[in-house]
Amino acid sequence: MSSDKRQILVIEDEEDIRELVRYNLEQENFAVTEAESGEAGLKAVLRKAPDLILLDLMLPGKDGMQVCRELKQSEGTRGIPVVMMTARGEESDVVAGLELGAEDYIVKPFSPKVLVARVKAVLRRKTAAPLPNEILRIHDLVIHPGRHEVRVKDRPVDLTATEFGILHFLARRPGWVFTRYQIVDAVHGEDYPVTERSVDVQIVGLRKKLEKAGACIETVRGIGYRFKDVD
Ligand code: CA
Repeated sequence: MSSDKRQILVIEDEEDIRELVRYNLEQENFAVTEAESGEAGLKAVLRKAPDLILLDLMLPGKDGMQVCRELKQSEGTRGIPVVMMTARGEESDVVAGLELGAEDYIVKPFSPKVLVARVKAVLRRKTAAPLPNEILRIHDLVIHPGRHEVRVKDRPVDLTATEFGILHFLARRPGWVFTRYQIVDAVHGEDYPVTERSVDVQIVGLRKKLEKAGACIETVRGIGYRFKDVD
């Protein structure tokens, strides 16, 4: 086994799912380690930090949310991307997990193809996040942070400061899902009097102004919003 393989840690109590994940990721040349409880998972991380963690939320003992919290609170493990594995209907857990700092989530039952794509996308995004002042050219949009300017196929779009802030925040991380709280927090700072619900209103306005390109801002039901991924 070569040491430049990327290491994925799977924390999951169901053996069938661990096997499915291991088999499919190994086919794609990842090295996979397994942990069957939250406690064992945290120990494995301290032994050798993986490149990414697939974390089941429903674990006996220390559950996935607690594990995520501990990983994201500790300086040494904060930077490791966490992809939560959830069951359908656990949207409120997903929202909580994203706000704790998890990078993404995948809903069970998932196809191997989706699993592999999601893992690769998270690893790619981790290295590809643009700088705050970098000009973004994505889909049909050009976003110029220095000038607070947005163009759709050379047509300038007149946005409010809040609309611009939301668009820029989402577009810097295509494919990444953000909760309303995260959007409010990023755009205004915590003490700005904008509610999570007003994010929906802002998004409606943004989409209207962007016309066809507004389809780049996708609604993720029960969770929040994401900017359409490029691939
Ligand atoms: Ca489970």
